[in-house]
Amino acid sequence: MTYGTISTINQYNTQFTFVSFYSKNSQYLDHCQYCEDCFACSGLKKKRFCIFNQQYSEEEYMRLKAKIVEHMKKTGEWGQFLPPELSPFGYNETVAQEYFPLTGGEVARRGWKWHADTESQTSNYQGPRVSLSVDIKDVPDDMTEKILVCERTGKPYKIIPHELALYRQHRLPLPRVCFDERHLERIRRRNPRKLWTRSCMKCGKSIETTYSPDRPETVYCESCYLKEVY
Ligand SMILES: [Zn+2]
Repeated sequence: MTYGTISTINQYNTQFTFVSFYSKNSQYLDHCQYCEDCFACSGLKKKRFCIFNQQYSEEEYMRLKAKIVEHMKKTGEWGQFLPPELSPFGYNETVAQEYFPLTGGEVARRGWKWHADTESQTSNYQGPRVSLSVDIKDVPDDMTEKILVCERTGKPYKIIPHELALYRQHRLPLPRVCFDERHLERIRRRNPRKLWTRSCMKCGKSIETTYSPDRPETVYCESCYLKEVY
């Protein structure tokens, strides 16, 4: 009976909660634990009958909550997760941008935040430039104290000691692009969050798949796939 939650453990009858654990019969919790019958609260532990972090009697709680829900039904907010316009982060700083990329203009038209300065601030690094050795065996230990500059975006980045140990173990060269760029490269290897209608390449049945029709892979329907694999 949990619906519309992000990051949760052991909840019962909770809706629209964020990073809240072991709570029940509550809505719109943010970072709450072991709460019961709470509404729109943040950072509470072991509380009951609270609204906006304020303690009420059971009767007051029920009356006030019903009133708020009634109002939210009129505004169309009831039944929805917290709206993006309340987020302190820019859309381009969140994983939403990785899965559903939008331009700054598209985000502004929806009334959401876009933090353009997160890009420009970090790409204006003026410190000394470190040249990277081609071979990992020539990389000194103090490389983990240096600030490196991404060859693609100009963003500064660092190598941490565990990372350097791993590159040495596998005899891999140090990365020349920053963490964010490497992350994006990995994300691009995943299929897009989009379904195409195409035919099974064995039986011809119509199927929906994340593999676009112009891709080279062999794509089967589920039953043909299972017959082939098992
Ligand atoms: Zn088939």
